[in-house]
Amino acid sequence: MKVGVLALQGDFQEHEQALGKIGVAAVEVRLPERLEGLDGLIIPGGESTTVGKLATTFKLIDPLKEFAKTTPVWGTCGGLVFMAKDVGFDQPVLGVLDMVVERNAFGRQVDSFEEDLDIKGIEGGPFHGVFIRAPEVKQVGPTVEILCRIQDGRIVAVRNGHLFATAFHPELTDDLRLHHYFIEIVAEKSRSI
Ligand code: GLN
Repeated sequence: MKVGVLALQGDFQEHEQALGKIGVAAVEVRLPERLEGLDGLIIPGGESTTVGKLATTFKLIDPLKEFAKTTPVWGTCGGLVFMAKDVGFDQPVLGVLDMVVERNAFGRQVDSFEEDLDIKGIEGGPFHGVFIRAPEVKQVGPTVEILCRIQDGRIVAVRNGHLFATAFHPELTDDLRLHHYFIEIVAEKSRSI
């Protein structure tokens, strides 16, 4: 299995380390040709505006859209923003996940918070969610499944088939269950081809 991590900006190294811990070698993706032969891709957190600009410069936008049509992609935080159809800002996004997102939805004063989450499909107790200037999913399309809401009801994890997105940062914890979950999506998809 070959899983890529978009390595333009943000915390891609933490994702690579998490993949390494579960025995999956990560491929750093900065150019379109690196997508060839990958079974899945993680888009890490960072500044989605910067990632969008760099992806435009490196001519990655169309290849990434094409890739996401058939291959599993997981976006975390800024990566979730980059995958969304509507972010309410004029910035380059992939638009592959049918959802409306509000960036930095948790306010300027309290930029970061942590909360224990119940995530559909994740067994073994709550998952510690680390939110850093996190986005909120305001609305989802009819085929998008909501996997997690925080206590106040806001949506922070969604899945549409092979596309998965979380508003928080599992790669900043030692809990590898969401990396396992994504690898299972990748394995399922590879079996179905
Ligand atoms: N606030 C960033 C954005 O909207 C995301 C922050 C993050 O990935 N931690 O792009």
